[in-house]
Amino acid sequence: MISRRKTRQVKVGNVLIGGDAPVAVQSMTSGYTHDIDGCVREINKLAAAGADIVRVAVPERKDTEALKEILKQVKVPVVADVHFHFQRAMEAIEAGVSKIRLNPGNINDRKQVEAVIDACKDRGIPIRVGVNEGSIVERKDKQRRLKELGAVFSNNRHGQMLAIMISKLEEYLDIFYERNFYDIVISAKSIDPLLVLDAYTEISRRFDHPLHLGVTHAGPKETGTIRSVVPLGTLLANGIGDTIRISYANDPVYEVQDGLELLYVLGLRTRKGAELIACPTCGRIQVDLFTLVQDVNRKLKERITLPIKVAVMGCVVNGPGECEGADVAIFAGDKRGIIYVQGQKVANVPEEKILDALLEQCALFQEKVMRGEARLGEKLVDILPPDPIGELGSGYAKIAAEKAHSAGQAVSLPLAP
Ligand code: SF4
Repeated sequence: MISRRKTRQVKVGNVLIGGDAPVAVQSMTSGYTHDIDGCVREINKLAAAGADIVRVAVPERKDTEALKEILKQVKVPVVADVHFHFQRAMEAIEAGVSKIRLNPGNINDRKQVEAVIDACKDRGIPIRVGVNEGSIVERKDKQRRLKELGAVFSNNRHGQMLAIMISKLEEYLDIFYERNFYDIVISAKSIDPLLVLDAYTEISRRFDHPLHLGVTHAGPKETGTIRSVVPLGTLLANGIGDTIRISYANDPVYEVQDGLELLYVLGLRTRKGAELIACPTCGRIQVDLFTLVQDVNRKLKERITLPIKVAVMGCVVNGPGECEGADVAIFAGDKRGIIYVQGQKVANVPEEKILDALLEQCALFQEKVMRGEARLGEKLVDILPPDPIGELGSGYAKIAAEKAHSAGQAVSLPLAP
């Protein structure tokens, strides 16, 4: 169980961030906000995928003008992402958004920042204050504080940048504190995952505001996931972080799915739907396991709502050990599969029937759990590994025979078990 750092709680619409609230998952729409139908569709898609909060960009007046209608058609809290134009923040607040994301560093007039703070205070709307590395790198003012912090972080691998980020954050927060505004969420993103790790760690030691974790411009999904998950997972495992956004250049629905999975594996959120465990396959495999796993994954999402653990194993050699703890498991071999529920063998089916039989057992088990007749994670007996020759066939001999047969050689196939 991860012990989380206690932060000052803020309310974003009906979602709490910080304090003892669960870590919230966020994402951002990728289309134009002024395309009302498209924006609503995207927000609702992200909400259906599990996003607790969705952010939209409002670079132009036509974007903030669209907000009122958008907010009528969505259920999740919407955050307006404001850069450069304080007027967009004022219009978004007026339209009824649940939070403003503001980087005081790119709004030149302090009076304008103060106007946004006061408007948010009147409406009870929190503000995310961002000190992203990309937007502060050229602003090396406040030399005295910088020097002080530079000395503090002299042994850190990111000493200079950390000093700039912390000093900028202090400077920004002073503007908010002077106006008695404390409904603040802090973010300190960077393209460098290790700087993200160091920056949030330092910030969590110095401020009690909730932290929005993220890596900026993480790249394509394939590498962006790793760039995000390494620092975010490390911070969360250390109890740091109150809301997260995994971001990369792809459909943001994947960002939500990956963010939730990260929280599930860390035990920071209760899983919704089945958890699928699958072996990576090796030279012992005798069924098309990759296709089977994809199909099972897709169908489980459609049909299973409880966090049932399902294991799909390619063979009986390591399968029993690897699926320890699974509620429903299947061991494949020689074009067949043996299915277990709570450790008990319930079916032995040919490869083409594995998917349906496995899903049927998952659905039956889910119904039993819902009726209170079975409990998740409870084994009735320890799994006894099947006898691969007697129950799954000799496999290798049969496959070799089939290969020889398709090559036009005369062979006699062994009998099916
Ligand atoms: S379960 Fe069997 S097929 Fe899968 S990786 Fe382990 S040994 Fe290989």
